[in-house]
Amino acid sequence: MIIFKSQKELKAHLENKKSEGLSIGFVPTMGALHAGHLYLVQSAKKAQQYCVCSIFVNPAQFNDPKDFEKYPQTTSADINLLESASCDVLYLPSVNDIYPEGAQNAKTYTFGYLETVFEGAKRPGHFEGVGKVMAILLNIVMPNTLFMGSKDFQQCLVVKQLIQQMQLADQIEFIACPTQREADGLALSSRNKRLNESQRVKAGLLYQCLISIQSKFLCASSFKIVQKECEELLRAKGIEPEYISIAHADSLEPLDEYDKQVEMVALIAAWVGEVRLIDNLIINPKA
Ligand code: AMP
Repeated sequence: MIIFKSQKELKAHLENKKSEGLSIGFVPTMGALHAGHLYLVQSAKKAQQYCVCSIFVNPAQFNDPKDFEKYPQTTSADINLLESASCDVLYLPSVNDIYPEGAQNAKTYTFGYLETVFEGAKRPGHFEGVGKVMAILLNIVMPNTLFMGSKDFQQCLVVKQLIQQMQLADQIEFIACPTQREADGLALSSRNKRLNESQRVKAGLLYQCLISIQSKFLCASSFKIVQKECEELLRAKGIEPEYISIAHADSLEPLDEYDKQVEMVALIAAWVGEVRLIDNLIINPKA
């Protein structure tokens, strides 16, 4: 694996690879890598692509500075994991390489309604920061395929919209990979490292709530009742839910009740101690 710290050198390298006829698969991350990230790398390799992974903890997307400071950094372990997954290139830039004029002066994209609900509502400025860094990274790498995780469902919708706004939809294919989970269903996340042993055990309840929302749709219960049961279950275990909702899977327009006419996604965000976790599940996948 070749490691680049400068976008200029990375671009020159990728120009060469593209002229050799290679197709580029891109996996942007913030590091503290786990099997969920490696699944994205493996997906790129399986698709016979030259895989570029980036590790950049983007200050512009943290609305809470404490969250940014506490974000785990495990670069040498990350490098070993990427090597073991046969990743071809790692881009490991400094803040200055990404934002030479400062993050506040980087081009801003807006995502309308998507920025006002769920993660957008709870984390003001978050998707603006995601848009800034993703636009810069896409302009540097110009991949054929972008691999991201459905674990961050709303982020996938935002980035798909960004690709449209950048008029790159006919050049970049967007692939949303399935969420990788622990045996108890907990979605793999860099934040899980901050859970203590008992919090880790309880954190599995988030997935149980999603499964319960899905299974109770099949037996025609009211969503409002299931939602209340989930909130009570989490609170009884000391977990503080921020939202437990269902929405249209394509637009994230919230639904008050199950609607079998549309594809629905269940979304959850909750605080386990000082760690904020999110997860989601498609309730009625389209055939
Ligand atoms: P992050 O480093 O958390 O910004 O994540 C980098 C990429 O990995 C994003 O596209 C995430 O959606 C994806 N990702 C994170 N966790 C998982 C997971 N458990 N399964 C699949 N993809 C994931």
